[in-house]
Amino acid sequence: MDPIRKPAWLQKKITPVAHAEMEGLLKELRLNTVCQQARCPNITECFGKRQATFLILGRICTRLCSFCSVSKEAPLPVEPGEAASVAEAVKRLGLSHVVITSPTRDDLADGGASMYAETVASIRSVSPGTKVELLIPDFRGDGAALAAVVESAPDILGHNLETVPRLYYIRSGADYQRSLDLLAQARLLAPDLNTKSGLMLGLGEEETELFAVLEDLLKVGCRYLSLGQYLAPSRMHHPVQRYVEPELFEFYKERALAMGFEHVESAPYVRSSYHAENYLEAHP
Ligand code: SF4
Ligand code: SF4
Repeated sequence: MDPIRKPAWLQKKITPVAHAEMEGLLKELRLNTVCQQARCPNITECFGKRQATFLILGRICTRLCSFCSVSKEAPLPVEPGEAASVAEAVKRLGLSHVVITSPTRDDLADGGASMYAETVASIRSVSPGTKVELLIPDFRGDGAALAAVVESAPDILGHNLETVPRLYYIRSGADYQRSLDLLAQARLLAPDLNTKSGLMLGLGEEETELFAVLEDLLKVGCRYLSLGQYLAPSRMHHPVQRYVEPELFEFYKERALAMGFEHVESAPYVRSSYHAENYLEAHP
């Protein structure tokens, strides 16, 4: 299928020259970011504000989502000093809010949960005022792994549903109900925990399917939501089925707020870590 032409509202420019300071720091501390690995279109804006989403546990994923550009090769061993390096970067950048995520590491016994917990603890030890948001994989439904992460007491715990259940064939190894159960379980373990989820639009979902997913998220206590436009990383990836108009994103935001979400970011360029500080600032 020929790719659909990008509309005028999706012509954001990436200017690599603005990235030099951030790239220098990341290289020095041997850190990965999802901003670079996922070729995020907001990278110039975020790096320009000295913000980044750190990718712990390496940059190789054990799953094969057909919409994602994160590398899928044989995974490498976990870097032992990674948590301390992330904390050092957070301190040097003076971040008031940081998002930490990882590829899915099905090869690790705990899916990397202990590294998430260690990273939260390391950040808190050097920068206690920083709000820490984790965007976690599903840990294959391992309750003990989830409990270890919840116990580290992040300020926000995110897990993205990404799309509607009918399209889960593009999320190899994932399971819609398992992801919902993870969000539900997190709230059972810590009833005051702020949980968050996100979906990409334009993958082929129907509007009624989208609203059904939002209902499901509310039922499991999720109150923070991000909705953004899916952009295919290359012609080899799942093709964009639709470019959703900015006005429709705005309509979805209003609808989601009316349904019961406390904070919603919904616009073509929204990613789950885009303007991440807004959620807690609006609804602590
Ligand atoms: Fe990085 Fe998130 Fe900004 Fe994208 S939106 S550049 S992933 S911080
Ligand atoms: Fe990308 Fe996450 Fe899928 Fe891995 S599990 S391929 S990182 S979306």
